[in-house]
Amino acid sequence: MTVKFDVMVLIRALLVGLAFYAGARLGVTQTITPEGIAILWPPNAVLLSAFLLFPYRQWPWLGVAALLAECLADVPAFPLWAALGFGLTNLFEVALAAWLIRRAVGEQFDFDRLRSGAYFLLYGPFLASALAALAGAAIYVLLDRADSGYWALWRVWWFGDALGLLLLTPLIVVMWHWLEKGLPRINWPAVGELLVLSSLLIGLGIMIFSEGTRGEPGFHLTAIVLLPFSAWAAFRFGVRGAAITVVIIAVLAVGFMVRGSHPYTDYAPQLAVWLMQEYLAVVALVSVGLAILLEEIRTQRNQLEQRVRERTRKLEEANLRLKEQASIDYLTGIANRRHFYHIAQRELKRRTVSGGAISLILFDVDHFKEVNDRFGHDVGDMVLNRIVDAVKETIRPLDMFGRFGGEEFLILLPDVPQDIAVKVAERIRKGLEALQISHEDQIIEVTVSLGVAQWDGCSTLDELITQVDKALYEAKALGRNHVQAVSPVLDVVQAPVSPGKA
Ligand code: GH3
Ligand code: MG
Ligand code: MG
Repeated sequence: MTVKFDVMVLIRALLVGLAFYAGARLGVTQTITPEGIAILWPPNAVLLSAFLLFPYRQWPWLGVAALLAECLADVPAFPLWAALGFGLTNLFEVALAAWLIRRAVGEQFDFDRLRSGAYFLLYGPFLASALAALAGAAIYVLLDRADSGYWALWRVWWFGDALGLLLLTPLIVVMWHWLEKGLPRINWPAVGELLVLSSLLIGLGIMIFSEGTRGEPGFHLTAIVLLPFSAWAAFRFGVRGAAITVVIIAVLAVGFMVRGSHPYTDYAPQLAVWLMQEYLAVVALVSVGLAILLEEIRTQRNQLEQRVRERTRKLEEANLRLKEQASIDYLTGIANRRHFYHIAQRELKRRTVSGGAISLILFDVDHFKEVNDRFGHDVGDMVLNRIVDAVKETIRPLDMFGRFGGEEFLILLPDVPQDIAVKVAERIRKGLEALQISHEDQIIEVTVSLGVAQWDGCSTLDELITQVDKALYEAKALGRNHVQAVSPVLDVVQAPVSPGKA
């Protein structure tokens, strides 16, 4: 590991050192009962949070800062060798926990997934604290100050460290992530709710943990009453809210206990501390755990919704493609017969309401069989495509062009009376007649015959096609390469039609 130095590391190390020192001072002055039993050890949570949040290469600087802070905090009360021993023990505990947690969870640690919470619990408060306590208790034995034996000291160290990690690490980590995202906009109703919640919590907490009403007969509140408040915070404000309330409860509980006031006065001092530690651990586990669980559910639901959205989008795309495939002629790319019928029928329906002329052209390639016979089917296909391209250039974008079948095509011309449609048909005929399709060394020439009809305003599409087909048949009979309109249209609803003829 290369140790790189920059100003950011210096600032972080300084902050971690200061916070560790404050935590350690708090630990030695504010969490020791009058009987000399430590309830919890806060500073390790500072270092663990830093080790979880910052890159490995910054660990040495952060670790040295914490070690110095530990010595400064301990030396008045302990010899330097013991202070160094305590510092190294804590460093070992935190480094082991952070390394194991990051290995299991990944490099981006946050209390947002059940996995992260579970690995934190397992490797931090359970494993690393218990292992470090082996060394911590040994130093106490060497100091020869304690009345209790090695395993009792081990247990005190373990529980105190574990509780410190459990109560404070979530708060520091989630607050760091929160602030890292930039200062959030203040949500005043939420601030109001949080104030009400914490006021109730602090009020009730003082009543419960102070000796106030104890001893008097009647109804007594017990510490478990505070649990619903941290659950409320978990529901409404997530891990942040839960972590804040847990710390408020811990500050009240520990603050009163070190002054000799707590709900467990009927028990021996050591047992009272264990009961308090158990109580705080349960509060932290339940409320922070609940908040993480809710977060996990939310994340999974979001992921599921995201997946459903993605699937829906793909399905819609596939649907669209299918629809296109179902409506497009595979060879020429224009509307197939089914789709042409669909849009032509819609167009006729619209004209029934809004009025306006509409004409239909049906054309058929002359002697197309010969093209196939001479050049082969593939060339025939290519010729059909060239014909379609040429016709597309002749008609307007709003004209509807479809393949009727084989080498027969339909064109529906909205707002076009028959005389104009005949002119359009003539343009198509001439255009295709002039078209020279080269294939290898040869030129393929094609002609088409076209039938034209104007819709009479009441016929069905099938009837209209029958009429135009008759006109096409006549065009073929007249020698092909010919435009033939239906016989003068009687009973035309729209503009009068002048029968056209090529
Ligand atoms: P007419 O002038 O009377 O229309 O003569 P024709 O040869 O065009 O008439 P007929 O209907 O006998 O032949 C149409 C030919 O069109 C027969 C068929 O093989 C060919 N054909 C139909 N669809 C396709 C196609 O998709 N590709 C190719 N290459 N040929 C097709
Ligand atoms: Mg033909
Ligand atoms: Mg034909």
